[in-house]
Formats: sequence, structure tokens, C-alpha cells
Amino acid sequence: MGTARTKALSEMAGRKPVRVKFPDEKISSYFGCDVFDLPKMREYLPRDVYDSVVSAIEENRRIDRRVADQVAAGMKAWAMERGATHYTHWFQPLNDSTAEKHDTFFEPRWGGGAWETFSGEMLVQQEPDASSFPTGGLRNTFEARGYSAWDPSSPTFLIDDTLCIPSVFISYTGEALDFKTPLLRSIAVLDKAAVEVCQMFDKEVVKVVPTLGWEQEYFLLDEALFNARPDLVQTGRTLMGHTAAKDQQLEDHYWGEIPDRVVAYMKDVETRCFRLGIPLKTRHNETAPNQYECAPMFEEANIAVDHNTLLMTVMRRTAAKHRLAVLFHEKPFAGVNGSGKHINWSLATDSGVNLLAPGKTPKGNMQFLTFFVCALHAAARYGNMIMGSVATAGNAHRLGGGEAPPAIFSVFTGTTLNKVLNDIEQRIKEKPLSPAEKTGIKLDIGKIPEILLDNTDRNRTSPFAFTGNRFELRALGASANCAMPLIVLNTAMAESLGEFVKKVTKLEKKGVKKDEAILQTIREFTAKSRNIRFEGNGYGEEWRAEAKKRFLKEMSSTTDAIKEYIRAPNVDFFTRMGVLTTPELTSRHEIKCETYLKKIQIESRVLGDLAINHIVPTAIAYQNVLIENARGLKELFVKDGAKMIDAQTATIKIVNNCVRSIYVLTSEMVEARKKANRIPEIPARAKEYEEKVKPYLEKIRMFVDDLEMIVDDRMWGLPKYRELFTI
Ligand code: ADP
Ligand code: MG
Repeated sequence: MGTARTKALSEMAGRKPVRVKFPDEKISSYFGCDVFDLPKMREYLPRDVYDSVVSAIEENRRIDRRVADQVAAGMKAWAMERGATHYTHWFQPLNDSTAEKHDTFFEPRWGGGAWETFSGEMLVQQEPDASSFPTGGLRNTFEARGYSAWDPSSPTFLIDDTLCIPSVFISYTGEALDFKTPLLRSIAVLDKAAVEVCQMFDKEVVKVVPTLGWEQEYFLLDEALFNARPDLVQTGRTLMGHTAAKDQQLEDHYWGEIPDRVVAYMKDVETRCFRLGIPLKTRHNETAPNQYECAPMFEEANIAVDHNTLLMTVMRRTAAKHRLAVLFHEKPFAGVNGSGKHINWSLATDSGVNLLAPGKTPKGNMQFLTFFVCALHAAARYGNMIMGSVATAGNAHRLGGGEAPPAIFSVFTGTTLNKVLNDIEQRIKEKPLSPAEKTGIKLDIGKIPEILLDNTDRNRTSPFAFTGNRFELRALGASANCAMPLIVLNTAMAESLGEFVKKVTKLEKKGVKKDEAILQTIREFTAKSRNIRFEGNGYGEEWRAEAKKRFLKEMSSTTDAIKEYIRAPNVDFFTRMGVLTTPELTSRHEIKCETYLKKIQIESRVLGDLAINHIVPTAIAYQNVLIENARGLKELFVKDGAKMIDAQTATIKIVNNCVRSIYVLTSEMVEARKKANRIPEIPARAKEYEEKVKPYLEKIRMFVDDLEMIVDDRMWGLPKYRELFTI
């Protein structure tokens, strides 16, 4: 009888790439074919209805009932022509996944017969019995019903036979229970503030949207091997496993040849994504073995967030078809790189101008600098909140691990821009500039595009880096919803921009000329961001020392980082800006703590279980083989026997030590868990889990991994790293 491992290995050995029939047409001819987008709306809706939907989207307005009825009719017609039988409000509850409850269009009619129906009411609102979604104490179960409401700014789409309607999810008392609601609020406040700033430079601008281009990292494993690892199945990561002799040290995986099975999978995912209007653009191998990445063309942030969550769903489903398992965990394997999700963020006007790209004219450059320093100023103020928003149990393995940005927030601007900023700080004074000084400064600002052209600076060690025409936040984990750091960025930017306008206006009132008022304010914001600007190696020890001198927080404790949600200045900020209310922040803090402690709890249980039920029995069985062998040798060679068995006895002792340590540590861990579970307040319980339970995971693993190196390979039941890393 083979072990689960040997069965999985032989299953994998017989695998062939799944044959997929890809469309013969060009991508552009089927891109978005499963989306009820604007061109389809134009086709299926009366002209006036189409116009009012478009203007409602543009002006962030609600759609009235009469219009909703007609939109619903058009949507139903389109969806049913494509074989849809069901519809669902598709939303993003606070647990990094998506939720859907399918209802059918079909309804029996009173007096006999049946029909398919879909009214405006059904489109606009649905009431899932959603008492089991995380609410962080926002709803008591007796009033458990939240409701979901259609978000017209993200188009509906078809998956199989179901029409999916992107929605927000709100409690009966009006609190947001999801990611999308505050994201939409942050987009609206950013729009308002950014338009005001734009109008200082260009009166034509009437709308500004944040743009997002994510990069999604992930691992792929053979399904049989994955299933033979209960830790992977239940926690998404390996809780044990000795490093493979060869993993990423030769750096031969990054951008290397993509294996056939993986290419087939990627193409399948892409085809499905293209149909859903997700503009995937790149695919490549990542640094670690079996690690890959994909990235789309950037889009308006709300749609991009929807597309990222949808992508993850598509990827999970497609993996099953290819007999693969896709891992979004931030650190599935010790010793090799984990997975992040980079957030490329910028702002675009309705006329398509990227506000974080240097302009073509001197005026355009002043506008760029204004937005640029506002972003720095925003980051300086709320950098820690951004770190809090990305803090999770999984991401804690990445941040500060020397593979992802450290747990200290800083901004990288690139040497050239850094020099421009330092110059500005020195040359602009609060007193009026002489005409020559002013011309000099303006000329230098005018040169920014040229100097940025050859600015190939690519500091990969910074959590928040300016990359020429956008900022890239690298601190988010691969499994997370992109929305929360975006909510912080958008809202912080809105606040900065608002202050910028106020300061300029105030100076103007004092008689300072507009261009000079703008320059002075740019200088002030530059100075205020000096503390978080760092151009060096973020992974280095020197930076930690330097950051300490600058009073920057190192946020390596997840439960401390999460506290940013309820820190007074942040609560004040979010409520003042109208993006998150105090109860919404408190509940998010509570949910994050609860999720954290549950994850550690599950990991601890799974590890305890595996160690005692799988590892220790295997080790003892092997130890018995050694004992048997030693006894036999001694019997056979009476004179030299004792000397002949010294290797065996030494090994028996090592195995024994490991087994004993595993027993002792596991029972200590169980006690630590019991103690933690008695703490009534969730945040304090989470802290106890972090400090008292989590350390055991590492300690126990060490002994298990030692055993893996000693025990007869044929007896070892769990697939080893070197095997997991084949495909
Ligand atoms: P890299 O690995 O060098 O960071 P990628 O090409 O993998 O670059 O990813 C860059 C991402 O940045 C893409 O998703 C791209 O669409 C996005 N991006 C480019 N310009 C912008 C912008 N103005 N706003 C938001 N995202 C952008
Ligand atoms: Mg990147």
C-alpha cells in the first residue's frame, strides 16, 4: 500500500496538458462578449434610458425606478438570448471573496403557466439572508438582513447561466458591509477634490477618476499533490516541509519558459477573462518555482477592483479543469518568495490626461507637480493606515521578509525627482521670487519630462514607488481585495488636494500671484513629505536604523498594524471625509482581528493534527526499523556489534528527540490556545494568538522538517517541496 504521497506522485506523472479549444477569432472580436457594456446597452435600451444611465454613471447619481425597469428589461433580453436562466447580485463582503445568491428569472403565474420576469426592483435591490457574512458586530442576528444594491458604474456580466450584477452590500441601518461602498465614496470625494485642483490649470476638466492596474502573483500546483497536503488544502500554505535542494537560487524561473500545462491554463483563463471584458495583458513566470503573474491594462479603479476579484474566481474554477490548484496565499512555501498584488495607481481626467504623468507644457508640468506632491503629502500622513489596511496573517510572512517591502512605510520618488523636490524646497521662499528666480524654477520644472525619460530607476524594495507615471504600492498581499488600500489612497489624496486648493486660495487672497501661490504650496507639501521619502535599499538594516531616527513606525506586528483602523486621527479623517463612519471602522477592525486569530487558530490546529497523527507515527515506524536493524546487527556480530550500530543509535536518538519535542510543544500550543480562547474581547484574543500561539508554528515545524530529512523517503506520507515544485 502506497502513501497518499506516492499515489499523488504517480497520478501526476500521467498528466497531460488539457486540450482546450481556443476561439479562432481575434481577441478583439470577442472581448467583452459576456458583458452588458455601453455598446450593448445602446443596442438593447431605448435612447433616453441609455442616456440617463450614462449620465447617472458620470455624475455618481442613483437611477430612478422607471429607468431601472427599462434597464432590467433590456438586460434580461440580452442575458436570455445568451441562455441565462438566473441572476444574482454579485458583491464583495469583508472576507476577500465574492458572494452571490442566484435567483431564477422564471416564475409560475397565478392561475397557471409560467414566465420569465426581471423588474427594475429586482435589478436595483436584493435581500440576501446574509447573517453569516462578517459584520464585526454591526448587525445583530435578529436584524440580520442586509441588502445589496446595484452599482451601475460597473457593468453586469454573464457567468454560465447567471447574470451577475455588481452590487454594494449594506446593513439595514445603512452601514457598509463590503469593500465597494467605501471605495465608491472615496472615488466620489477624490473626483470632487481633484476637479477643483485641475480647474486651477484647465477649466475644461469636469471629472477625475482614480485608475488601477493590478499585478496578480500566484502559485500553481498539481491538484493531486495539493490534495495530499492537508495543510495546503486547509490553510493555503505549507505548515511544514524542508526546503528543496534547488528552488529559486539559480534565478532560472523568473521570466523563464512556461510549462505546457501552465500555458494551457493561462490561455484558458485569458480567454474567459477576455469574454468578461478583463483586459489581461501580460503573463510570465515569477521568481519562485511554480510562481506566475498576470497583469491587465489599467482601468477605472472601481471596475479594476471588480475585475481582480472576478479574475481570482475565474482562476480558481479554471484550475480545477486543468487538474491544478491555484494558490493566492501570501506565503505558501517557506524559503522561497511569496505572492503579492501590486497596486499601480494614478488619476485620469475625463479627457484622458494622466495627472501623475509629467505634462507636455510648462503648465502641464506644474499640474503634474501639484498632484505629485499632494500624493506624497497624502502618503506621509496616512502611510501607516495603508500598512494597516494590508496587514493580514498571510501578508505578515512577506512584509519585512526581504522579498517584499519592509513593514515601514516610505516613498520612493527616484533620484531625479528627489533632486527636483530638494531644489524646490531650497529655491522657493515665502517671500516673493524675483522674475529671474521664477523663470529659472519654471524652466527647471519644464525639464521634468526629459529627465524622467532616462530615469530608469526601479527600486523594488520600496512599499510605495513612483514609477514614472503612477505610484506602485507593493505591500498588498496576493489574496486580498485591492479596495482597502485604494480607499485610503483616494481619500488621503482627496484631503491633500482639498488642502492644496485652500492654501493657494488663501495666499491669493493675501495678494500673492497664482503661480507663485502654487509654487509656495508645492514647496510646503514637499517639505512635509521629506520624512517618508527614501531612495535607498528598503531591505537593508541601515534603513531600519534610519527609519527609527525619523520616528517612522516599523509595523511588523499584524494586530498592532490593524489598530490603525481605530486610531483617533484616522477615524477623524475617514469620518470627516465621509468615506467610513466610526462604526464602519470599528467593525472593520474587529473583523480583521477575528479573521487573523481564526487563521492562526486553524493553522495551529492543522499543524498539531498533522504532527501528532501523521509525522510522529511515521517517525516512530522508521525508528522501529532502525531498532530492529540495530538489534539484528548486535545479534549477528556479537564482538563488533556495539560499534557497528553507532549510526543507527545516533539516528534513533535524534528521532526520539524530535518526537519528544513535537509532543511537548504541541501540548503546550494546545494549552496556549485554550488560554487565548478564554479572552472575551476579540482584539485582545487576536494579540494573544499572535504572541503566544503563533510562535509554536515555527518551533514545531523545525522538528518536523528535521524528521523529513532523516526518515526513510518511502515512508514519508506528505509530498515534499521538491515534488510540489514540479508540474
Ligand atoms: P512592472 O512589473 O514593471 O511593474 P507590469 O507591466 O507588470 O509592470 O505592470 C504595470 C501595471 O501598471 C499594469 O497593470 C499597467 O496597466 C499599470 N499602469 C500603467 N499605467 C497606469 C496608470 N496610469 N494608472 C494605473 N495603472 C497603470
Ligand atoms: Mg510592478
